[in-house]
Amino acid sequence: QVETRNGGQGWIANWLVVLRTVQNQASRSAEPGDRPRPALPLYTGSNKLLDIETKPLPDGLLVSIAGEYPLNYSHFSLTNPRRLVIDFFNTTLELGWEGDFLPVNNELVSLVRVGQFTEDQARVVIDFNDLFSAGFSMSEDGKRLVVKLQPPTIKGKTIVIDPGHGSLQPGGWSDPGAVGPNGVYEKDIVLDIGLKVAELLTQEGAAVVLTRTGNTVLSLGERAQVANEINADLFVSIHANASTSPSLTGTATYYYAPWSTQLGTQRAAREKLARYVQQELVQELQRRDIGTLEENFSVLRNTSMPSILVETAFISNLEEERLLSQEAFRQKAAQAVVRGIIRFFAEP
Ligand SMILES: [Zn+2]
Repeated sequence: QVETRNGGQGWIANWLVVLRTVQNQASRSAEPGDRPRPALPLYTGSNKLLDIETKPLPDGLLVSIAGEYPLNYSHFSLTNPRRLVIDFFNTTLELGWEGDFLPVNNELVSLVRVGQFTEDQARVVIDFNDLFSAGFSMSEDGKRLVVKLQPPTIKGKTIVIDPGHGSLQPGGWSDPGAVGPNGVYEKDIVLDIGLKVAELLTQEGAAVVLTRTGNTVLSLGERAQVANEINADLFVSIHANASTSPSLTGTATYYYAPWSTQLGTQRAAREKLARYVQQELVQELQRRDIGTLEENFSVLRNTSMPSILVETAFISNLEEERLLSQEAFRQKAAQAVVRGIIRFFAEP
């Protein structure tokens, strides 16, 4: 039995509460966190960057970086401003052009910069106007790296959103989660954020499944099973935090992937998902950054795909209870979660 959003009651035949699905059953991409396998043994001698070229694409940009010898590199992305950093090790600059940047007249990319980061490390930084996806490919001889930059997409991904609490208990009452000093229920706040996340993800072309759209009979283990059963790509549980200390505030995102268990193989992916969603939440909500934390929560332990649990803000704090009660704040939280999810699939 479920409670609909407007308070009505109804029965569902299946515990798998599917709110929306899309037709697209595209094959699953490589596990996020996979790294491109180098075609050649790593070259570790000293190297030179000889050339950087850009080529516009209809919706993005190709950046082609040439070295004298096979390139040894790593990359990461940052926010505020959004940028992609590519480091080349044991490498100095010997470019055939003057200056330290390439102007790019592009909707997606604003600038490609290059510099000698340390004595033996060259750095290329690509600045973006918006969320991006980056695909890396290396020439056969390992001397030319091509980075394909395009707008990101989550079309064809299946994402399970789990608004916390709201579980019907023996006796017929529903677990409210934490309750704020002014009586705001966590279960109501996180359901609204979850529905907003689902709406935004659907607009982006993902298939979205909610573990509940009202109250639910699912146990915590069964919430995880919803995602496992349909072989979802991601599981995101949404909560509001609470403390006995009323002054405690801030945003935190949890993941769980101990090396000693099977989940250890997903450690990079789970940590990355938590980090990106946390970064976007902090930037959008401007609450204290508690950071990403590892915790053995049931829904994280029992999901077979990358999963996180988001603690948006402290409902036990007067100020954050007030914020969580605001539609605009909840909408911002939802947008931030969605941006983090998009980055998880798109960025290295
Ligand atoms: Zn909670």
